[in-house]
Amino acid sequence: MHYDCIVIGAGIAGSSVAYFLKEKGLKVLVLDRAGIAHTGGSAAAGAFVSPKIGKGSPLQNLTNSAFAFSKDFYLTHFSKYFLQTGVVRIPKDEVDATKFEGYEPYNYPNYQWKQAKELEEAHILEKHASFYFEEAGVCSPSVCESMLQDIDFVKYDVKGLCYDEGLWSIGSYQAPKLVLATGYENRFIDMRYMGIKGVWGTRGDYKSTLPLIVSMHKNVSVSANLNGIIKVGATHEMGTLPCIHCNEEPLKGLLAKASTMVDTSDFKLTATYCGMRSTSQDYAPLIGEVIDVKTMLETHPTLPQGYKPKEPLAKMEGLYVCNGLGGRGFVFGPMMGKMLAEFIVDGKAVDPRVNPDRLFLKWCRKSPDLAR
Ligand SMILES: Cc1cc2nc3c(=O)[nH]c(=O)nc-3n(C[C@H](O)[C@H](O)[C@H](O)COP(=O)(O)OP(=O)(O)OC[C@H]3O[C@@H](n4cnc5c(N)ncnc54)[C@H](O)[C@@H]3O)c2cc1C
Repeated sequence: MHYDCIVIGAGIAGSSVAYFLKEKGLKVLVLDRAGIAHTGGSAAAGAFVSPKIGKGSPLQNLTNSAFAFSKDFYLTHFSKYFLQTGVVRIPKDEVDATKFEGYEPYNYPNYQWKQAKELEEAHILEKHASFYFEEAGVCSPSVCESMLQDIDFVKYDVKGLCYDEGLWSIGSYQAPKLVLATGYENRFIDMRYMGIKGVWGTRGDYKSTLPLIVSMHKNVSVSANLNGIIKVGATHEMGTLPCIHCNEEPLKGLLAKASTMVDTSDFKLTATYCGMRSTSQDYAPLIGEVIDVKTMLETHPTLPQGYKPKEPLAKMEGLYVCNGLGGRGFVFGPMMGKMLAEFIVDGKAVDPRVNPDRLFLKWCRKSPDLAR
């Protein structure tokens, strides 16, 4: 069957790019071996959608633009899945608390300070003044299914890719354009320069009567009480084996941390999720074309010695990536999906902060992957 574009991966990255490609009139097919947001980072995510705090780094600015975009996107098109609970950002410790005033000038505009008394009224056990972002909230990973409702989806474990005469083929499916949104797994093409790594995390859903009306983040994320369920989650361990820790031990550690934030005495575990999220070399997303590494190294054998080519970097024909969304897939997904669709369909340039090209020359010079 012929499509305009095939997307591999039906997490929030693949769902977002497929949604915007479809909106632009393309005939799109999405493939995922497990189902839609069924495993992987997107199934495990607590899916908090909140701004980033800090001292105005490019990544913070990008994250906060993505936050503004995604929040409006979910509220406008998928309001059923986005609960605007507000999110309280609590200092991690004494030292972190002293930094919060310095963060203030760089904050997402709509925020308030919450002092210990107000936090206590909101059932939050915290003495340090914290930021409250009222526009933030929690998104259900099920939003991915809704984003793909008018798009062809096939449960399919992709074992290999073939490109011939302008078409990518996967089994009986063909398309001139292919998007890899496979999260931490990237076994088809040499994309080592992007430095994609998996970070393992877990989430527990607890039944509770605690009347928490806001969500919060400290060392771990604790959601508001959503119809009798409070989600506790965090991603923290670099690794490549997603299920190595599935003995619920890490969840006990998370609950212990959550217990310092709220009263967890009636929490009863109802569901456990674990998954890997993918992160890039510099923690910013990876959106755009894929460099033809073999051709580049053959054409310019002195790249590892620091050679800077004057001509454009060679690219894999019709191949794109939407990945590296880090710990904020549900914040970045919609804006990055739109950006990639605008690039693929309209040729609109990708923001250089997320274009994977940014990492290539440095990888050639610095990576032990390449023999010098
Ligand atoms: C515990 C935890 C908590 C988190 N909390 C939050 C949060 O509060 N807020 C937030 O915004 N983000 C959060 N994240 C991060 C977020 O989950 C990720 O950024 C996001 O899910 C990444 O989405 P993705 O689509 O890139 O990858 P994934 O969701 O991993 O999707 C990749 C998909 O590709 C498929 N795939 C891979 N290879 C193949 C193949 N060969 N054939 C077919 N299919 C294939 C997989 O089956 C998978 O479904 C959390 C992550 C974890 C693990």
